[in-house]
Amino acid sequence: MAREALHKLLNAGNKKGYHLSSASGFRSYQTQEQLFNRYVQRDGEEAANKYSAKPGHSEHQTGLTYDVVSENTDTNFKESFGKTEEGQWIKRNAHKYGFIVRYPKDKTHITGYQYEPWHIRYVGKDTAKTLYNHRETLEEYLDLYPK
Ligand SMILES: [Zn+2]
Repeated sequence: MAREALHKLLNAGNKKGYHLSSASGFRSYQTQEQLFNRYVQRDGEEAANKYSAKPGHSEHQTGLTYDVVSENTDTNFKESFGKTEEGQWIKRNAHKYGFIVRYPKDKTHITGYQYEPWHIRYVGKDTAKTLYNHRETLEEYLDLYPK
């Protein structure tokens, strides 16, 4: 269901003339473990925790989360993706297909993750719309963070 919604979202964007695709969907525990360990080696565990998840904790293991990339590879997986037309379009339209931008810029203290304009999570259309309209994160919506 999430995968089908993702295709609809990407197709809608590409009909507007963008060149969007998804770079990573489901990740196995093993893949996440390898990725996380690589990040820890490179940047140290404290830094790695801010942008990657420990194995078993990544949303990518749920199969509900995708990273959206554009053909302009300079901005892929960077904060600057949020400033591109593609990133702006994702921000404004993802909820129509049941997705939220999971780690917004002004909510890093709530999500515990750095701003990732490319990382979207499927929550279903109704929830996505509510979160979008209220500018809420999943943590706030689920009452995991005191308001
Ligand atoms: Zn991601």
